[in-house]
Amino acid sequence: MNTMEQHVTDTVWDVVVVGGGMVGATVALGLGQQGMKVLLLERQAVDTTWSDHKPYQVRVSALTRASENVLRNVGAWEGITSRRYHAFTAMHVWDDLSSEKIHFSAQEMGEPNLGYTVENEVIQAALWEQVKACDTIHLVLNPTIKSLRLEEGKARLELEGMGEIQTELLVGADGALSQIRQLAYIGLDTHDYEQCAVVGCVKTELPTEDTCWQRYTQDGPFAYLSMGEHLSSIAWYLPAEKMQWALNLSDQNFAREVSKASDYRLGTVVEVGERAAFPLIRRHAEHYVKSNLALVGDAAHTIHPQAGQGVNLGLLDAAALIETVLAAKLAGKRWGRYSVLRKYERWRRGDNAIVQRSMEAFDWLFKQDSNLKTTFRKGFLPLANRLIPIKNWLMAQTLNGREALPKLATSNIPNVKRNRKH
Ligand SMILES: Cc1cc2nc3c(=O)[nH]c(=O)nc-3n(C[C@H](O)[C@H](O)[C@H](O)COP(=O)(O)OP(=O)(O)OC[C@H]3O[C@@H](n4cnc5c(N)ncnc54)[C@H](O)[C@@H]3O)c2cc1C
Repeated sequence: MNTMEQHVTDTVWDVVVVGGGMVGATVALGLGQQGMKVLLLERQAVDTTWSDHKPYQVRVSALTRASENVLRNVGAWEGITSRRYHAFTAMHVWDDLSSEKIHFSAQEMGEPNLGYTVENEVIQAALWEQVKACDTIHLVLNPTIKSLRLEEGKARLELEGMGEIQTELLVGADGALSQIRQLAYIGLDTHDYEQCAVVGCVKTELPTEDTCWQRYTQDGPFAYLSMGEHLSSIAWYLPAEKMQWALNLSDQNFAREVSKASDYRLGTVVEVGERAAFPLIRRHAEHYVKSNLALVGDAAHTIHPQAGQGVNLGLLDAAALIETVLAAKLAGKRWGRYSVLRKYERWRRGDNAIVQRSMEAFDWLFKQDSNLKTTFRKGFLPLANRLIPIKNWLMAQTLNGREALPKLATSNIPNVKRNRKH
């Protein structure tokens, strides 16, 4: 064992975060920047170098204002805007079954935009730039976790080749298939949507008008998320059995099918980039916390991405956990205690469940398999468009997430102290 590895096992870490994705890196930063000793374990190194000529990546997130605030408050927003991002100013949703549509615009809400489309890689690189600059965060790459013990007020992780590490709080931010969730014997409620999402960037004949266009079809929704004048990220939802078909199409046939799926809303697709497809499964951890352990982001929940909420919910988890831990520390309490962590769980689990269930209700409603549903569906968009309270609620969800936002998600907090390496 070298001296650096010795340091990792000799230290009792304030917090150990497993998973340096968008959510885990945010937790590490929010706590590390306030002086807590954080160990971040991540399987894959993240490339923080940048070139404007980098091809557009397949994975893109639509970020809400609340997420923008969280990322600003941990110092990562500048790293995003200096790389690549796009502000969208309108959303337009329509349904094959009715001639009605629903349209939200930033102007109606007195806002500069409704959110941003950003490549996941850009968000992660901007966060990692800050992680590397923070002198209280120690990074270990490619660890192999052998076991977890939660006892005597500590979480103890056994790492292959390194020995045991100890911490007051272990945060599982290791994604949908979370090893930490499994090692902690936390059960999972799951639902298979029997759908897949095909994603990638395309160029279209007509300009995107900085709008996210979403069409409901019999197969499932189709969306163009504006990423530039003629550039969009697509989210094309298909029955699971069509996944291989969509991936195997030639570029020319893919362009033709995507144009059709969008009902030629932006004319034809003239160029396609790399594409990928993901089976869609809702997962919800039965508990988010145990003594000395908390789950955040996809490790705690995954939802249907049609409303683009996954990482937005994860960043709210991160902000809520940061606030809960810092408040406990300030009050002189052990932040790994179950009673402290329950506050975080109560804050976030119900909220995430509501969003999951509303996505499921949409999915159910738009699977056209009964006359009653068809009648209701035909009336839904016209009603939502005309009833101002419903429309305002839908717009607020798009922009901000929800009520009772954690402080980090509400505004740009000036003078956030950041422990930086010199
Ligand atoms: C098709 C699709 C479209 C989507 N669109 C949107 C959108 O528009 N807006 C939105 O908000 N969300 C969207 N989402 C959801 C969003 O991508 C996820 O919610 C988000 O990536 C979750 O981030 P995370 O950091 O929790 O997990 P992850 O991104 O999965 O990160 C987990 C990290 O943990 C690391 N890791 C895993 N295991 C270990 C281990 N044992 N040890 C160390 N490290 C480990 C991994 O390498 C990874 O870096 C979409 C999802 C899909 C499938």
